[in-house]
Amino acid sequence: MPEGPEIERVRDELLILENVRLREVSFTPSALTNQRYREQQDRAALIRAKVLEKLERRGKYLIWWFESLPALNHFGMTGTWSLEKSAEGPATSESSKYAKVILNFEGGNRAIFEDMRNFGRFQVYDSEEDMLARVPRLKTLGIHGLQANFPQKRFEKLLDLPVSRDKPLAEALTSSRVVSDIGNMYKSEILFVAKLNPTTTATQLSSTEKRRLGRAIRLVLKRAYENDGVTIEDVQSPSSLEQPVDVHYVYGKKGRPCPSCGEGIERFIQSQRSTYFCPKCQVPK
Ligand SMILES: [Zn+2]
Repeated sequence: MPEGPEIERVRDELLILENVRLREVSFTPSALTNQRYREQQDRAALIRAKVLEKLERRGKYLIWWFESLPALNHFGMTGTWSLEKSAEGPATSESSKYAKVILNFEGGNRAIFEDMRNFGRFQVYDSEEDMLARVPRLKTLGIHGLQANFPQKRFEKLLDLPVSRDKPLAEALTSSRVVSDIGNMYKSEILFVAKLNPTTTATQLSSTEKRRLGRAIRLVLKRAYENDGVTIEDVQSPSSLEQPVDVHYVYGKKGRPCPSCGEGIERFIQSQRSTYFCPKCQVPK
């Protein structure tokens, strides 16, 4: 699932569309098999001929501001955008078989939302108030982990809320109420960097550990953003074609040696989500 760093990178690529007028919006036939897209067909007419004034990321959402109308875009499990420069022809052409939403802008740029698993959304609201009323979780989004100045104090405050403080960190960290842009993959990497066991709860953390956790969030997300998803410090070239290049410390590496101490990496599953960790470097409390 795309997390903050991936969405921020997509946003960077799409920024070229800011201050450009939308010519046409269309949904592909494969999008219309899904109720969430189908019900947007008429509403999408509202943003036609409007200028994209701002492309804003809020946690794992991208909000396309067509003047005062927000289009709330969630990437679901597999969503992403591609940009075709100087695209010619009508907006109905399908560049990819997973294309769902096609935005044709004046000047010839075309943005295509591809969503293989069909869990994404692109929904147009009448106003910000309308959007917040219909999607209440937007009102309770926690901090952005990927930002220039990590808000450590606010992070600690959110971590200490009754809804999160007694939960294992593996769960609390992926709650959008605490940090809005961390998902399952970077969570494991962050806990490894912070040397904290995923079953530890916020109430068990010392203030030093809380600061270490904040620094790990900032470091992992920033590195992933700058290096296209890579979270480790030095990426080694593979010595043979069969050997995969390591891009993560622990994520997806059950049974393989910990990059720090050599112990076998373990995985535990909680609420159907996997967390990878080193039992020696990340000792339980
Ligand atoms: Zn280790």
